[in-house]
Amino acid sequence: MAGPREQAPLPPGLAAWLDDAAHGLDTAADDATAVLPRLGDAGLFRIGVPVALGGSGGDVTDAVRAVAAVSERSLAAGFVFWGQRTFIEYLLQSPNEGLRARLLPALLEGRRAGATGLSNAMKFLAGFEELQLKASAADRALRIDGKLPWVTNLQPTGFDVAAAVEGAGDDPAFIVSLSSDDDGVSRSADLDLMALRATSTAAIKIDDARVGAERILHPDAHAWLPKVRPAFLGLQCGMSIGLARSALTETEAKLRSGRDVLAEPFAAISAELADLHARLARGLAAAVFETEPSLLFRLRIRLAEVVAEAVQLELCASGGAAYLTQPGAGIQRRLRESAFVPVVTPSLVQLKTALAAHPRVAAVGAVA
Ligand SMILES: Cc1cc2nc3c(=O)[nH]c(=O)nc-3n(C[C@H](O)[C@H](O)[C@H](O)COP(=O)(O)OP(=O)(O)OC[C@H]3O[C@@H](n4cnc5c(N)ncnc54)[C@H](O)[C@@H]3O)c2cc1C
Repeated sequence: MAGPREQAPLPPGLAAWLDDAAHGLDTAADDATAVLPRLGDAGLFRIGVPVALGGSGGDVTDAVRAVAAVSERSLAAGFVFWGQRTFIEYLLQSPNEGLRARLLPALLEGRRAGATGLSNAMKFLAGFEELQLKASAADRALRIDGKLPWVTNLQPTGFDVAAAVEGAGDDPAFIVSLSSDDDGVSRSADLDLMALRATSTAAIKIDDARVGAERILHPDAHAWLPKVRPAFLGLQCGMSIGLARSALTETEAKLRSGRDVLAEPFAAISAELADLHARLARGLAAAVFETEPSLLFRLRIRLAEVVAEAVQLELCASGGAAYLTQPGAGIQRRLRESAFVPVVTPSLVQLKTALAAHPRVAAVGAVA
């Protein structure tokens, strides 16, 4: 049976840098500003972006593979990649050509950070939460106020961030692109995270920011969010795929006599991971998740469980050495990284609640 490590679409220099930097990216913010330009220089943000728009072609499934390849080496870097690439995807799917033309070039190079503050919007779409940003009419512009409590990839040097805003008066909720250069937009200090510390994760306060139509990613959040959700979630699944693969690769290296009992679960989890990835890719390519989101929800849930199982398997295969600062640093990092997977929006609680309310599609197997 083939091992879990897939031929990664990463240049060797980047792969080596990620391997060296992974512990530091998880435990400190020192290298936070290095991640974006490193990934940009390797051309990763161009993957799945049409050539005509400055990309290297392919589709979102290629971008998922790239997020997985980075996450396999560092989930912190994989999460920064996710934020940047998801914001790029919003621009690709936006009818606002002017905004796309203006922002895309620097984002594709990794010279400018793109962030997605749409967790609140995804919860809003599922009916779980009110929108946290509100618009009101102001002379020839919209005034926006509110707070986004968690946003990643808020590079201190500058960022653009997508957020959902409750419309003024009877207007529908819409999606806006705010900028760190806007008056009224301010970023907190980095949040004091237990891991993933080089992800530039902070809160954003919006106090009387003024925007015009040129900054609207989409005028109707309800119509647009279900369309971008497959890419949002699919790219996020890339993080789980990479992390699980990493734990399985480490487990495989430790499978030797005396631990034979682990060979069977290792083979089963490896095969299931490959199968889930294939189903995700097929579903994204066939665009079935837009109309059948529960299929994607089930894939996301099962991938999160596979991450947990793979990391526990690595822990068992490592034995007491896992508990020593060295040589246990790798498994300890993966344990911390894996704690993020169930809580990132849409969280497992949220997804399971949504599926319990709308159990329309019975099985992951339907994405064949
Ligand atoms: C390191 C890190 C980085 C992050 N980066 C970003 C980012 O870049 N962009 C972004 O938008 N968000 C980001 N988040 C936020 C994250 O994705 C979740 O939105 C957040 O962790 C969940 O919100 P909460 O803790 O307030 O959960 P709560 O709202 O307190 O909810 C607790 C749990 O219950 C679930 N839940 C809440 N209400 C319901 C309901 N009515 N029915 C069913 N389930 C429900 C939640 O999903 C969660 O699992 C980040 C979080 C972390 C930890």
